[in-house]
Amino acid sequence: MRDLYDIIGVNKSASKDEIKKAYRKVAMNNHPDRNPGNKEAEQNFKEAAEAYSVLSDDQKRAQYDQFGHAGVGMGEQTGGHGFSGGGIHMSMDDIFDQFGDIFGGSPFESFFGGGQSRRTRVRGSDIKINLKVSYEEILKGAEKKIKYKRRIPDPETTFMTCNQCGGSGQVTRVTQSILGQMRSTTGCPHCNGTGKQIEKRSRKAGPDGLILDHQTISVKIPPGIEDGNYMTFDGKGHFGHGGANPGDLVIYFEEVNHNYFTRNDRDIFIEVQISFSQAALGDKIQIPTLDGKASLSISKGIQSGQILRMKGKGFPKLRGGSRGDQLVKVQLITPQSLKKKEKELFDQLADLNGNSKTIFSKVRF
Ligand SMILES: [Zn+2]
Repeated sequence: MRDLYDIIGVNKSASKDEIKKAYRKVAMNNHPDRNPGNKEAEQNFKEAAEAYSVLSDDQKRAQYDQFGHAGVGMGEQTGGHGFSGGGIHMSMDDIFDQFGDIFGGSPFESFFGGGQSRRTRVRGSDIKINLKVSYEEILKGAEKKIKYKRRIPDPETTFMTCNQCGGSGQVTRVTQSILGQMRSTTGCPHCNGTGKQIEKRSRKAGPDGLILDHQTISVKIPPGIEDGNYMTFDGKGHFGHGGANPGDLVIYFEEVNHNYFTRNDRDIFIEVQISFSQAALGDKIQIPTLDGKASLSISKGIQSGQILRMKGKGFPKLRGGSRGDQLVKVQLITPQSLKKKEKELFDQLADLNGNSKTIFSKVRF
C-alpha cells in the first residue's frame, strides 16, 4: 500500500494548509472532467481523496502516523498478525460531497446550488442538543433522560385571524413596471405566514404568543454510535409564531475522550509498555478492554512497536453486526536506573552477547 503522504506529494511534517494545497493539485490533475475515460486518473483521483480524508483529520492523521495503514482501517499485513482489509473506500459521490469545494465543486453543483426560493417560515425552529456518551455506553447502548426548554403556545394568550392577510398567511403585491403589471406572492410579514395574530397576550408570553416550557425526553442510545451521529425527534422543537407547528429536536452524540482508549470506527487502540524480560521470555498480561480485563499473550521475541490484535474486542456496528477489534501496540521500556543485582545480570548478558554482530540498516521514513 502506498504511503499516504507520497500519494498527495507532501512530507510528514506538512501543515494542514500545505496538505490541502497539494491535494487540490493532485485532484485537479486527475479530475474526471479533465480525463474522461481514463481509468488510471480515476484511480489516482480516488486514492488521493482517501489519503486526504485521513491526513486532513487531526485524529486520523495521528493514528496513521503511529499505526500506519492499520491505524486508519486500511488493509495491511504485519508480522504474523494479519490485518484484514476493509478500510476507507470513497465513491465519486462521496468525494464530491466531502471535498467538492476544494477543487471547484461537483459537476452537479449547478443543479443544487443557489437559486432556491426562500419559503415562508410557518414552522417553529429546531433545537439542537449535544449529548455526551462514554465508550462503555457506546458498547452496550444506554437510555438517558434529557432536560431541555422549548417554546410552546401560552394557554392564556388568545389569537385571532391576521387582519393583514385574512388568515391565508400570504400577501400578493402588485407592482407596475415598464413590462406591465407584476404580481408576486410572499409570506405575510405581519403574522410570519401563520395567518394568526395575537388577540390578547398574557404577561408571561413573548410577542410570538409563546412561553418557555421545561421538557424531559428519554433518549435510547443504540450500541455502536459514533461522534457526530444524531437522532431526530419530530415535533419536539420550538413551536412557531402564534403556535405554528413545532420544529424538531435533534440530539447530537459526542464521544467522551477515554483515558487510554482511542477509537477508529469499530476498532479500539491502546498502547502497552513491557519490559525486556517480558519481550525476551514471553508473558501473559492483563489488558483493559471495553468488557473489562482480558488476558493477552506476549510471544517471546516480540519487537517494540509490534501491534497485536484482540479479535472482537472493539465496538459493535450500528444496527447490528460483528464487533471490531482491539489493537494493542507493544512498547519496550528500557530501564533508566538499575538495581545492583540487575546491573550484574545485564553485565553478564553483555558478556554473553559480546561477540554478536552489530547490524546496520537503512532508515525508512
Ligand atoms: Zn398575516
